[in-house]
Amino acid sequence: MRIRPEDYAIHNAMEDVVEQAVEKVLEEDKRACSCSMCQDDIKAQMLNRLQHRYHPLLTGQPKPPGLELEDLETGLFNKVMLECYKALQLVKVSPRHEHDRVELTNTTEAILGFAVSEILSNQKLFFERDDLSQLMAESLNGLEPAYKTTHKGDAFSRVAEMDPTYIAYVYSAIFHALKVLDLGSRRTS
Ligand SMILES: [Zn+2]
Repeated sequence: MRIRPEDYAIHNAMEDVVEQAVEKVLEEDKRACSCSMCQDDIKAQMLNRLQHRYHPLLTGQPKPPGLELEDLETGLFNKVMLECYKALQLVKVSPRHEHDRVELTNTTEAILGFAVSEILSNQKLFFERDDLSQLMAESLNGLEPAYKTTHKGDAFSRVAEMDPTYIAYVYSAIFHALKVLDLGSRRTS
């Protein structure tokens, strides 16, 4: 079973609050560039430093309301704002808005997709969409994020060069998620 991005649906709720924080900070700092590329660069830096919160979007269920910055508990709110100011400073000092760009994505998700495909084939497991969404979300919550906005170091070149320790780390997150979700028994034969 080869997994493609359209085969499942997940959302990182941390992206909601990061978006709101960036908007807030850019409103206060008029000297910073607020183009969509600089905004994505700030978001990428922040998302790589904050604990992500992926959840599956299940079929037939209403999309859960987004996470609100103002609703975060104080410790996390402060951390989000601190990371936002830090990321803004970095991007202000060296904006990269003229470079070759891709949409803001978590490249760990693509790598995970390859690894999950391989495990499902090897274990002769078949997952419906909702199972897959749950597995992807749970596994990603156990892995370091790697949000990117440039072509440099995109997932496809990285998989080939991936070091065995990293592959083992990805596999262990998947097996842990399979166990937690009790999905290990959905065999096709
Ligand atoms: Zn810009």
